[in-house]
Amino acid sequence: MDLVIARPEGLYCPAGDFYIDPWRPVERAVITHAHGDHARTGNQHYLAAAPGEGILRWRLGQDINLQTLAYGERLVHHGVTLSFHPAGHVLGSAQVRLEYQGEVWVASGDYKVEPDGTCAPFEPVRCHTFITESTFGLPIYRWQPQAQIFAGINDWWQANIANGKASVLFCYSFGKAQRILHGLDASIGPILSHGAVEPLNRVYREAGIYIPETLYAGDFKKTDPLLRQALIIAPPSAGGSTWMRRFGDYSDAFASGWMRLRGTRRRRGVDRGFVLSDHADWPGLLWAIEQTGAERVMVTHGSVGVLVRHLREKGLDAQGFSTEYGDDEEEATA
Ligand SMILES: [Zn+2]
Ligand SMILES: [Zn+2]
Repeated sequence: MDLVIARPEGLYCPAGDFYIDPWRPVERAVITHAHGDHARTGNQHYLAAAPGEGILRWRLGQDINLQTLAYGERLVHHGVTLSFHPAGHVLGSAQVRLEYQGEVWVASGDYKVEPDGTCAPFEPVRCHTFITESTFGLPIYRWQPQAQIFAGINDWWQANIANGKASVLFCYSFGKAQRILHGLDASIGPILSHGAVEPLNRVYREAGIYIPETLYAGDFKKTDPLLRQALIIAPPSAGGSTWMRRFGDYSDAFASGWMRLRGTRRRRGVDRGFVLSDHADWPGLLWAIEQTGAERVMVTHGSVGVLVRHLREKGLDAQGFSTEYGDDEEEATA
């Protein structure tokens, strides 16, 4: 018997009678992380890993009916033993481990295997069946070590200061923005953040994650000389808006795994692209799948067909699982 099946409302556990990251409102929702396509409003009960509580409440409402578990803590519901394990994707992100009558399934949610200091590092969990994401499930996706990416961002920022320009860096406001803030060299100059980013910085700081001091970008006038030293973190939706006018002469950049693709930067119309993703790259996906020891792999959102074929060639029982999860590297969905 399958511990998780696809239903119109989302991934469903029949034995436990609950859903994992449902895309339609249900009675019981187990949430892997607070990105908008995985954590939606309207569910009766929510269950999530404890470090994600602040963000879930900020995004879905302070009054949601939310129960949390520490990573590794077990809960038995209708005979199904459930626990959360770090996914290394964003603050509070978790893989969901389910055990029922000796069968173990793990649903990954979104995950990244390189530790970044803003959330608990990815922890492989042994299982019989692994449900994996595949956002960057193509062999062309191979990330450079993040230290190199951060060095590139710091250099770009310093070069802009030397040229009397502000530096505007677009990225997803939850997770990516805080990871960049955490990894930057904050001694280079003042850091400003957009109104969509600032509240999330606060939640991260409250969770004990180091985020350097940020100033609210909306407080600055175009004539302020400080802007020419500043790095401004903003969501992609701010690009091309009137909000940008206050920065006068600026250089802009976009940080996303999609910047690996030639043409993405040009389409975005930005000066620079930094290839920085909160998802596993191709070698990372294959490593994580191998670490689980799973013989059966269900592949969700991303390059499902390519990854399924590759896993089958390696002798695994792999199949695609159709979901309605989106893409948190591209544009804010919440
Ligand atoms: Zn995500
Ligand atoms: Zn996702």
